[in-house]
Amino acid sequence: MKIELLTDKIPVGISQCAMGDPVRYNGGHKHSKVCTQLLGRVFEYVPLCPEVAIGMGVPRQPIRLVKSDPSADAEIRVLGVDDPTLDVTEPLREYADSVVPELQQVRGYIFMQNSPSCGLKGIRRYLPNGHGHDSDGMGVYAQRLRERFPDMPMEEVGRLNNNEIRENFLTQVFAYDAWFRYVHEDPRPARIIEFFTAYKYLLLAHHQQKTRDLGQVLANSKGRDHEELALEVRARMMEILTHMATRKDKTNALMHSQGHLKGYLSKEEKAELTELIDEYRRGLKPASAVLTLLRHYLPRTPHSFIHNQMLLAAEPAEMGLCDFH
Ligand code: SF4
Repeated sequence: MKIELLTDKIPVGISQCAMGDPVRYNGGHKHSKVCTQLLGRVFEYVPLCPEVAIGMGVPRQPIRLVKSDPSADAEIRVLGVDDPTLDVTEPLREYADSVVPELQQVRGYIFMQNSPSCGLKGIRRYLPNGHGHDSDGMGVYAQRLRERFPDMPMEEVGRLNNNEIRENFLTQVFAYDAWFRYVHEDPRPARIIEFFTAYKYLLLAHHQQKTRDLGQVLANSKGRDHEELALEVRARMMEILTHMATRKDKTNALMHSQGHLKGYLSKEEKAELTELIDEYRRGLKPASAVLTLLRHYLPRTPHSFIHNQMLLAAEPAEMGLCDFH
């Protein structure tokens, strides 16, 4: 299976205020140039503002997460800050449910941080007496979509300013998109295994043990229901990709790739490649330098396994999507 990464722009959901639209409670926006100018090159955005969509208007009174009491399993509501009788918990959940059909076609979602509707984590929670309780909350709209799309890559706008987090998110979105194009419509075990095999070295760079565990799941999958197996494999692959790829694990995966060229390189070529991988390991060279040389030598080997490795496909950094100032 030779997977092509990008065909058209990939549909991705986004909090509308990040697009520069003045939909915030105070009539402002939180435009993210990283999202619109940089990631907009590869993403086709579906901008949504749940608070406006449920009729709260602009401007509107701010809302916040309120726990009914300090216990761990206390009920959480989204209430008005000025008027606590305003409760928009159910409307926000219902709105999330209503956009599920539209979001079936998106392959990632970028949420605005610190929002009781859109924030993915670390949202301040209050007690009914108005005192701050903790910062362990999640936006109610985002939480509902997380439940409905458990494997979809999701990230916060602010975190995408970090080059490594952005690269990791792109890798997840590309993989999730590829899954829908190559496996979703035809989840025969042979295709699932081919897909996993193409991603194997990339997955190893993100989490070695979990990748081996997934290999075992597939090795023991004879007789399993195809759809159920596909869902488990997708969930495990997407979870593995949420782990940041360390330079050490990437080096390991690059060395595995180099191993497939054994017998096809001269002594000098092999030494040059080994030296380059070591320079990458020590942080002296970017991964793209190693990938370029590996790809240069690839035509010499007839082994389809290494030709199809997604690790060797154009990575986000090479597409100019990682450095942005
Ligand atoms: S954070 Fe979400 S709810 Fe708040 S303005 Fe942005 S899109 Fe609307």
